[in-house]
Amino acid sequence: MTDLQDLYQELILDHGRRPRNFGALSGTSRSAEGYNPLCGDKVKVYVKMDGDTVKDISFEGAGCAISTASASIMTEILKGKTRTEAEELFQTFHELVTGQKAQLQAPELGKLAVFSGVSEFPIRVKCATLAWHTLRAALNDADEVISTE
Ligand code: ZN
Repeated sequence: MTDLQDLYQELILDHGRRPRNFGALSGTSRSAEGYNPLCGDKVKVYVKMDGDTVKDISFEGAGCAISTASASIMTEILKGKTRTEAEELFQTFHELVTGQKAQLQAPELGKLAVFSGVSEFPIRVKCATLAWHTLRAALNDADEVISTE
């Protein structure tokens, strides 16, 4: 189990240091901003839809390794997914990081499983879910800044 945890730690640090899909999307896209005052994490999520499918997605912001890695991995995973699939993944991911679901019960999460350890640190749950809450706001075309508080 320790090896797996080390691997997870590595992936989170890697995505935290070199986030993927980082930067604003050009052209027309929806966006929303999120803020986690508990930790100081800030994120802006951009999403370009093709009908009901996520055609492109990116993010900008500054925060702790967990919030940055979560946003980075989220953007990797959601490209090509439908809105409904994105919403379902968020539900499952939320259950994983809050400890309501074990990792083995959620194989569809793929790489997102690296955040399973967050369930042992309730204060970090908001770091891990900030990008997802913000994505939801972007999809709903919400204009206000989303706060986890
Ligand atoms: Zn954080």
